[in-house]
Amino acid sequence: MITCNKCGRKNNNAAKTCSKCGHKLQSGRNRSERNTVRQERSDMFHLKLERDKLFSKHGEAWVYSLFLLGAVIFFTYNQIYWPLYALTPAIALLAWFRKI
Ligand SMILES: [Zn+2]
Repeated sequence: MITCNKCGRKNNNAAKTCSKCGHKLQSGRNRSERNTVRQERSDMFHLKLERDKLFSKHGEAWVYSLFLLGAVIFFTYNQIYWPLYALTPAIALLAWFRKI
């Protein structure tokens, strides 16, 4: 049974229009098509999330690189080299743990 959206009359499943008011009836096929569109939209949403995650990971890598670069410049300027030997592997290890 298909219920008419306009007048509420129940129509035969095969009917394309309402037998009372002539309003075009929603078939099951139309409903599934709409679900497909919704599915595609949610897929696009997930794709966007994946892209954002990737971007934030790139951003994080950049922060580490800039921090390391800043530290290298700072310690070189002050002519202290020993913290660099500890800092470089520490940053590399951090980046590795974060799977960058
Ligand atoms: Zn109707």
